[in-house]
Amino acid sequence: MTLDHTHDPAARSCVPGADGHPDFPIQNLPLGVFSPGEGAGRPGVAIGDHIVDLAATQEAGLLTGEASRAVAAAQGGDLAGLLALGGGPRRALRTQLFALLSAESPERDRVPPLLHEAASCTLHLPARIGDYTDFFVGIHHATNTGRQFRPDQPLLPNYKHVPVGYHGRASSIRPSGVPVRRPHGQAKPPHLDAPVFGPSRRLDYELELGVWIGPGNALGTPVPVGEAADRIAGFCLLNDWSARDIQGWEYQPLGPFLAKSFATTISPWIVTPEALAPFRIPQAARPSGDPDPLPYLLDPVDQAGGALDLDLEILLSTRASREAGLPPHRVARSNARHMYWTVAQMVAHHTSGGCNLRPGDLLGTGTLSGPEPDSCGSLLETTQGGKVPVRLDNGEERRFLEDGDEVTLVAYGRREGFASIGFGACRALVLPAS
Ligand code: CA
Repeated sequence: MTLDHTHDPAARSCVPGADGHPDFPIQNLPLGVFSPGEGAGRPGVAIGDHIVDLAATQEAGLLTGEASRAVAAAQGGDLAGLLALGGGPRRALRTQLFALLSAESPERDRVPPLLHEAASCTLHLPARIGDYTDFFVGIHHATNTGRQFRPDQPLLPNYKHVPVGYHGRASSIRPSGVPVRRPHGQAKPPHLDAPVFGPSRRLDYELELGVWIGPGNALGTPVPVGEAADRIAGFCLLNDWSARDIQGWEYQPLGPFLAKSFATTISPWIVTPEALAPFRIPQAARPSGDPDPLPYLLDPVDQAGGALDLDLEILLSTRASREAGLPPHRVARSNARHMYWTVAQMVAHHTSGGCNLRPGDLLGTGTLSGPEPDSCGSLLETTQGGKVPVRLDNGEERRFLEDGDEVTLVAYGRREGFASIGFGACRALVLPAS
């Protein structure tokens, strides 16, 4: 995770509007799959309010060597082949695009034909996700939710020894912008003697980071924690929509099932480890009395720089607030530093039993709540299980999500001496149950 000239905050781009862009200045260059209007997806890179067509860039002869090989591997609207190549080709692509798109680029006159206005493009999932695993490493979320059921012992005995996770559902992951339909399901409200089936009444969001797997591992061949960072191709935002009433009834003893499998929304851009290098921080020291991680989860380099300092926000707009022309209400602010386990530890643990991860697999971190009341990553926490409604700027109240609500997650890396970058929105509208 070294810093180089591509992190220079003084760097300027030849693409209009890119300099100082809140998400996509030239220091970011995230990878995605887009189509201009309708049609098949193709690989692209976000810069400012534009998308660079990578295939067109390659066809124009503007990429060489490993960078060209990376784009060739990403044809067909699926970046998994590119992600599989690992850091070398990914960094070569970043370096060459940085040079091409810089204000001093000798080829800058050849850039405009490669650009599409992002607003007129459709963004797709950046890869065909083979498997999706959701972790539970946000310790404040684990504590807040655990306290609702076990006030004296919020965290279960395994929490500080094992990066807890479960296998999620890849087929229902959608990119930002695709609406989410309120699910039906079975629930047993406390005041009823028998369960009922119907639309969820306690629909919630979860603020998470998504982790894209690059080079995979063979079945039966664990990834050592010291090598795990090299298997991570990038990051996105992830909303793990959750139906709390269904979850509360179904989850024991095997964990989440239909309460979460109906939809997961991700931001469509893969923000690379290279772009995030300035925002790496040491993993927070464990409080005294906490157990040390077992050796297979402990690596000094990972502990020294394996955490991420990213500001996270949850924004909520309602049908009424939009009709009144009001901006979304910020429900919470948090930070990606609130992870009890690093992403490398997640990868090392996931593979430690022999499970093979494959390029384009997606991991969720778990809900990244902070320690403050206004930093909760789910309504379950913000409203204490629906007991205390949250009051929105326009006077409305919410205990859980209502039809017509729109949830947006955003993330920013900010550090003195570096250009700020963002992830782009992870947004979806809640539709009524069918
Ligand atoms: Ca989750």
